[in-house]
Amino acid sequence: MTGWAHWVGRGTRMLLRLIRPGGGSSLPGLVTLRLSPDFIRTAAMLFAHRIVITGTNGKTSTTHLLSSFLEDSGLKVLYNVEGANLPQGIATTLLEPPRDTLVLEVDEATLELVVNDLSPHWIVITGLFRDQLDRYGEVRTVRERLLRALAKAPSARLLLNADDPLVASLGREQDRFFSLKGLSKLEVPADVPGCPRCKAPLSYSERFYGHLGIYACTVCGFSSPKADYPAEIAPGYFMVNGLALPPLPAYLHPYSAAAAVAAAMAMGHEPHLFAWPAPAWGRGETREVLGHRLVLALVKNPASFSWNLAWLPADQHILQIDDQGADGHDVSWLWDVGYQAALKKVYVTGARSLEILIRLKYLDSVPQAAAFKTARGALGAALQQGQPGASVLILSTYTGLKTIQSLLHNPEERTSEAPTAVLTPPPPHGPGTRTLRLVHLFPEEMGTYGDGGNFAVMQKRLAWRGFGLELVRVGPGDALPTDADFFLLGGGEDQAQERVAPALLGMRGHLAEWVEGGIAGLLVCGGLQLFGESYETPLGIIAGLSLLPLITRAGSTRLVGQMLVESTFVKSPLVGFENHAGYTRIMGGKPLGTVRRGHGNQPHGKGYEGLVHQHVVATYLHGPVLARNPWLADLLIGWALDRRGLGPPEPLDDELEHLALVKWTPGFRQ
Ligand code: GLN
Repeated sequence: MTGWAHWVGRGTRMLLRLIRPGGGSSLPGLVTLRLSPDFIRTAAMLFAHRIVITGTNGKTSTTHLLSSFLEDSGLKVLYNVEGANLPQGIATTLLEPPRDTLVLEVDEATLELVVNDLSPHWIVITGLFRDQLDRYGEVRTVRERLLRALAKAPSARLLLNADDPLVASLGREQDRFFSLKGLSKLEVPADVPGCPRCKAPLSYSERFYGHLGIYACTVCGFSSPKADYPAEIAPGYFMVNGLALPPLPAYLHPYSAAAAVAAAMAMGHEPHLFAWPAPAWGRGETREVLGHRLVLALVKNPASFSWNLAWLPADQHILQIDDQGADGHDVSWLWDVGYQAALKKVYVTGARSLEILIRLKYLDSVPQAAAFKTARGALGAALQQGQPGASVLILSTYTGLKTIQSLLHNPEERTSEAPTAVLTPPPPHGPGTRTLRLVHLFPEEMGTYGDGGNFAVMQKRLAWRGFGLELVRVGPGDALPTDADFFLLGGGEDQAQERVAPALLGMRGHLAEWVEGGIAGLLVCGGLQLFGESYETPLGIIAGLSLLPLITRAGSTRLVGQMLVESTFVKSPLVGFENHAGYTRIMGGKPLGTVRRGHGNQPHGKGYEGLVHQHVVATYLHGPVLARNPWLADLLIGWALDRRGLGPPEPLDDELEHLALVKWTPGFRQ
């Protein structure tokens, strides 16, 4: 059967390539697997060396580099060039004739399904970052899946990123580690506030970006393992375990380079390079088009977006943001990107172009920006408006990557389109005549779903009206300030909730005064649950503050998707993304609104979303909720100004948010 299946698969691929050159990375494999479910195993066993690369970030580049190093040392390598890393993509790659070495990138959630069949000699894990929370779940869930996969491959040797505690903690005896020193600091929120082994706080002596750095657990003693392959980077310099390599080009992520060099070394093939290989498919590909330098890179989560912005400086930017399955349906993560590089002229496209425009509106330095219906239109505008010789960085989420990549090779297909929306520059502002205070509770632990953006929205909306906003971040060992105008608690993983609950209970008396004293509060998802009586999770019952009349227990199905809520508290409907295991029963107070689409407090059909008590709004809406619904931000601002005896907030221009609301609300018209 396998022989037959193989030929049918190859025939399908040939046919697809005739219809759509460059296409067909999944369907042939899918057909083959239908006919012969054993195909991956039979085909993989024909390779003498089998290497798997996994992790959320850096798989494609690491695979590409390692394959090139192994080929340089005389091996014949097959690898998944376009990064098709689900079972069907892997099967498509394996339709090629066998060679002596197989290097495969495998999706981090797919590994447990295929690891038996691939029976790899080596598994390289690059790093684990928050990625597509609505598809794969929280980052610890992804780590648990990897643990299960590794248990099925006891004889594989692992090469692990020592700087990533989530990855390093997967290490077993005989495993190897690589690390990196000398990275300049990059602002990306951490994804793992606690020790992956015992959940106690991790202390960092150095932090590179996100949760990567040099760390030690204060309780169980788990700490950065000693690297077998330490890499070091400095301007014009890159070294791995004493081997000097050419300086890294900007398109290559130092962690991918370090992982690939370390993997080659671990396999006994020390690479000797005069120059680095050209970028992998869609990972920093560069083309000269009509006197412009165009660079294309995939972005998929805060880590990759922040990295590419910082390392690939450009005069203009095209941002293509989609929200299909492969991109992740929730785009709240756009708020966790570090937009450190100054954006000057930005052309946005993709299904979620309005959300990225809204994000740009709240930056400290707001660029000129417009949305285009198609990538062809965005490219047309960038090429027309850029100065000769200008560079354009194109950042795209996964779904649109292929289209925009082929456009790079066929720039004559660009069009001249009128923008569908233009970002109106917000009013200029100074430091403000009067400063209010916002207390952000546990921003590190409870900030997994982009909720940190709610602060940026409050700050700017106050600034545009002539007020300052002081931010007080309160972490586990900190005390609450005596007074506040607002308090904010975002969403987080069950484990993070479990960790912050005792500290929160220690503040109960103080928070009760704030709630009953009419201070404006916003509690999102995990925050809502912690202000209620309790949250019953599979890990155990987390005692809440009992300051809101509600109780939560984890249900059998996670409630995930876009939500639309009608609320009498605000003049426009509320929209956002929900992603929670908790089902909440309210026992008093007023619901924030009635669910028109999505779930809210309970699975389908029960009708209510959130709760309002005094001046506290508790909701399951992410987005961040205040960015997608500025009318809700203004409700809180109005309450806070009123408490200080100040007048109601002046109206602001929220046309973009209304456009986005109409776009995402079937049947809704202004
Ligand atoms: N961990 C909680 C749940 O799954 C809260 C999730 C969230 O804040 N999005 O219900």
